Amino acid sequence: MRGLYGMGKQSPPRQLRSAREIAAMRNAGLVVWDTFKAVKPLVKPGVSTAEIDAVVREVFARNHAQPLFLNFPNSTEGGPPFPAATCISINAEVVHGIPSLRRKLAAGDIVSIDTGCKVNGWCGDAAFTFPVGEIDPVKQKLLAVTRGVLFLAIDLMGKKSRWSEVAAEMEKFVRDHRFSVVEDFVGHGIGRDMHEEPQVPNFVQRRAPRNADFRLEEGLVIAVEPMVNVGTKAVKTLSDQWTQVTKDGKPSAHFEHTIAITSEGPQVLTSSPSGELE
Ligand code: MG
Repeated sequence: MRGLYGMGKQSPPRQLRSAREIAAMRNAGLVVWDTFKAVKPLVKPGVSTAEIDAVVREVFARNHAQPLFLNFPNSTEGGPPFPAATCISINAEVVHGIPSLRRKLAAGDIVSIDTGCKVNGWCGDAAFTFPVGEIDPVKQKLLAVTRGVLFLAIDLMGKKSRWSEVAAEMEKFVRDHRFSVVEDFVGHGIGRDMHEEPQVPNFVQRRAPRNADFRLEEGLVIAVEPMVNVGTKAVKTLSDQWTQVTKDGKPSAHFEHTIAITSEGPQVLTSSPSGELE
């Protein structure tokens, strides 16, 4: 949950993490992973998004983890802080949907669940988009492409030398599938704080500041979070001052992992080694 440039508070300069620090972040990442294991069985018609949020809060409490999204400040002056531990965004909602007892999942929906926590001073952040019952072929393709572009990026983090090379491949991958990459929101460095430098765009920044690109080197820890739309890349904010929706009302998906570059290559900190939620 981060806007591109100028939104949110100033972050400290980016840091490289030691193996010990990455191991500490792994603990936070595994709690985030546990929340997804706990909520997956709830992703079915009739379940409210507030029920999903409640389960995530329970997992955090059980693990003495601090929810990072709860009370997160609004990027608009005077806007309300985020009122939940998860962002839950359905269909045309891109990111930052607010959980509600009135909002119930229905068959054919796709639902993005995004959450993060802090454990012993270190942060983890991840998002998955799940199908609710049977979904149409376009949504099936959207989930496959969005998850696919995240794992393409993870793989390329071990092969390319600069992030801009990864971002270019991500943009091309999505475009080749005739979908669009959201440009209003980007991934981020992560460590002691959820949002640190650098910003991690999922697209080529044609008007970026010269120092926006960064090297992919051992000790870098970033949250990579492509948001992919079936139609236009353009998004707008709903009147709740949080929820982002596609301007054309077409579906959007979002996948995210916290990833460290270690001596053995990129390591996903927010999943088990298999990466399977079952
Ligand atoms: Mg994030």
